[in-house]
Amino acid sequence: MALRITDECLNCYACISDCPNEAISEGDAIHVIDPQRCTECVGSYDRPSCIEVCPVEEAIEWDPERVETADILTERWKGLHPGETPTLFDKKETA
Ligand code: SF4
Ligand code: SF4
Repeated sequence: MALRITDECLNCYACISDCPNEAISEGDAIHVIDPQRCTECVGSYDRPSCIEVCPVEEAIEWDPERVETADILTERWKGLHPGETPTLFDKKETA
């Protein structure tokens, strides 16, 4: 599932440069995540980078409206990074 930014966002910009898919941008009031570019960081990292760097608890959350499989997210990553090889993690090892 893609992630989304909540009204708790302070517009600190910390998450933008750390997103491997350029999925985060300034919105009208708060930063926003483009769900067509968000892969939950699948393909790049073993956990969502934006959540890791965000200084505000609950400013970024999972979007229950956008539940997606690892295969779908990986295919999205490949579409965003043509010619590159995704970094895949064994979820059992990172749990
Ligand atoms: S989870 Fe990863 S891909 Fe999705 S918005 Fe956050 S940093 Fe970008
Ligand atoms: S890091 Fe968190 S508080 Fe800062 S812009 Fe991104 S979502 Fe908002």
